[in-house]
Amino acid sequence: MAEPAATDLSIGRIASAPWLAPARERVLQMLRTGRLAHALLLQGQPGLGKQALAEWIGRVALCESPSDGPCGECASCRLHGADSHPDLVRVGIREDKKQILVDDVREMIAGLTLKSYRGRRKVALIDPADAMNTNGANALLKTLEEPAGETLLVLTASRPERLPATIASRCQRLKIAAPSRATALEWLREIDPGVEWGPRLALVAGAPLAALALARVAPVDKDMAELTSLLARGEGDVVALAERCQKAQPGERLRWMENWVTERIRKGLTAPAADHTPGSPGLPAALRRRHIQGLYGILDETRAARAALQGPASVAMLFERLFVKLARELEMLRTARGRG
Ligand SMILES: [Zn+2]
Repeated sequence: MAEPAATDLSIGRIASAPWLAPARERVLQMLRTGRLAHALLLQGQPGLGKQALAEWIGRVALCESPSDGPCGECASCRLHGADSHPDLVRVGIREDKKQILVDDVREMIAGLTLKSYRGRRKVALIDPADAMNTNGANALLKTLEEPAGETLLVLTASRPERLPATIASRCQRLKIAAPSRATALEWLREIDPGVEWGPRLALVAGAPLAALALARVAPVDKDMAELTSLLARGEGDVVALAERCQKAQPGERLRWMENWVTERIRKGLTAPAADHTPGSPGLPAALRRRHIQGLYGILDETRAARAALQGPASVAMLFERLFVKLARELEMLRTARGRG
C-alpha cells in the first residue's frame, strides 16, 4: 500500500473540506457583517479537522482583504505563510504533557493585551480547549468576560462537556458534523485513490482525518500481513511474534486484526461452498461453519485484548494468547485443505 501524501496535507486542503463549509460560511458571514464573536468554540468528534479550521479562521480573521477565505497575498497572509504572524498565538498541549499548562494560557492572555502588529485584531487559537485544567480555564475566563481590544479566541473541543459552563456559554458555538460516508470516501479517494478507505472509515466513526491517520500506519499493515501469513503457513514462533507486536503500536495492530478477522468472516459467509473438485479453494460446508465459529472466537479475543490494553495486563501475553488461537485455527484450515 502506498504511503499517502496525506501525512503532510496542508491546512488549506483540510480546511476546505466540504463538511466544514457550513462553519466556514458562518465565519465569513460574521466577518462581512462586522459581527465576529469574541470567542468561537469549534466542537465535534475527533478527526473532522477542527484544528485546521481554527487555523483557517485565524488566517481569514487577520487577512487584510478576505473574500471566500484568506486572500493569500496581503501582508498578513504572507506573515502566515512564513508562520510568523505576531498577531496570532497558539496554545496547545506541550509534548510529554497531558493538559494545557496554566502558564501557557497566562502567556497567551498577556500577548493578547499587546497592540495589534498589523492594526487589525489579535487572534488566539486554543486547541484542544478541553485539555485546559481548572486554573487554565479560570485564567481564560477573565479574558472572555472582558476581552482586551479587538480579539478573537478560537477554541476547539471534542469533549465540550469538559469545558466549564462559564467558558462555553461565552463562546459562539460552531458544531462540526461528520460528513456522509459518500462525501468522506470521495474526499479521501481524491487524496489517495490507492487506499481502500471504506474499512478504515468504518473503524473511526466516519471521521475522515482519523481514517487518514490510520492509513499512516501502513507499516503496521504490512507487518501484520506478513505475520499472519507466517502463522497461516504454520511458521513463526508465537512468543517472538507477540513480543514484536508489543514493541510497536499494539493498539493499531489489534485494530488491524479485528478488521482482518471481520473480513475473513464476511468472506467465509459469502463464498460459495466447496464442490469437492480437487484444488477447490472452498471448504466443505460443515468445516466452514466450524471455521467461522473459530473466527468469531478470535474476533472476541481481539476485542477483549483491545479493551485490556488500557489495563495492567501484559501486552505480549495478550498477543500470545491471540496468536496461539489463530495459529490453531489456521492449522485446522491447512489440514482440511490438505485433505481436500
Ligand atoms: Zn490576505
